[in-house]
Amino acid sequence: MRKILHADCDCFFAAVEMRDNPALTELPLAIGGSPERRGVIATCNYPARVFGIHSAMPTARALRLCPHLTLLPGNFEKYREVSQQIQAIFHELTPLVEPLSLDEAFLDVSQVEGFSGSATWMARWLKEECLARTGITLSVGVAPNKFLAKIASDWEKPNGLTVITPERMEDFLQALPVKKLHGVGPATGARLDAMGIATCEALREVPLERLVEAFGKFGKRLFELARGIDERPVRLERERKSISVESTFAQDLPDLASCRQALAPLCQKLMERIARHGHPPLAGIVVKVRFDDFSVTTLESRGLAPSPESFSRLLEQAWERGRRPVRLIGVGARLLPELHRRQLTLPIE
Ligand SMILES: [Mg+2]
Repeated sequence: MRKILHADCDCFFAAVEMRDNPALTELPLAIGGSPERRGVIATCNYPARVFGIHSAMPTARALRLCPHLTLLPGNFEKYREVSQQIQAIFHELTPLVEPLSLDEAFLDVSQVEGFSGSATWMARWLKEECLARTGITLSVGVAPNKFLAKIASDWEKPNGLTVITPERMEDFLQALPVKKLHGVGPATGARLDAMGIATCEALREVPLERLVEAFGKFGKRLFELARGIDERPVRLERERKSISVESTFAQDLPDLASCRQALAPLCQKLMERIARHGHPPLAGIVVKVRFDDFSVTTLESRGLAPSPESFSRLLEQAWERGRRPVRLIGVGARLLPELHRRQLTLPIE
């Protein structure tokens, strides 16, 4: 059995701002883009969440929900610095660290000999060290695999520590809502709901063939996850080359106008993801289109900053190549290679 930790800072960007200005602690606070530029919320603190504000929400909407919200543009240079300090603490425990974003990582501690080999003690140590050295609280999940560790870190947030031992895994899984499973988004969640499947216990009663029939390749994944099977290894950091999001539509989009409509929520999601990575310097944008005949076309534009307008122009050119109904649209931003970052940067908004 492996021992995997998932460590995740609590409302990271907001936590850094509150640390540096404690007067903000009790106020509803969000880090996000300006409403005039159709910005979105990257992070908000817990007092802001009381108003229903959450990350990825358009800033304009957040301000309607809470007109006295303190909105900060964010100091990503500072967040990157704190992130490096936290990642360094992770590396003191094990070299097997896979960062997922500035404030989140998987750690494989199966081979760690300290702490009598207790992953629970290691998790406690991480939380204490992180708070003592950076002033930021972590939530940590401990489990035999990645997907359960990630669910566990979210279980008792903020400042949580949830341990799913191999013995506890069975009970935990049975009661686990399927919507918590890795890869189950709103669309799959709704379909499982329609099939009367709410928990992993119910999901286990569905034969593999039926799941594959209903969900394709993901059906097999669902079958495994319901049984706590997730063999994905913790991968060491590679240099990230791009950040992207894509969506396969429940029904093919018949024309360019409907593709344009589908673009706005995708762009919003992308901007949120770029913020989660600390607004790294960008080199250009990419649009991917898969048509109903499964042909794929990808268009890239170097030097363009991501904006709904630039994506819309690129999407039009991509669509012209097929002029057919569209199954999937993806939007992404290319990152500037680490080496060139000092020489050229693009404004992101
Ligand atoms: Mg976090």
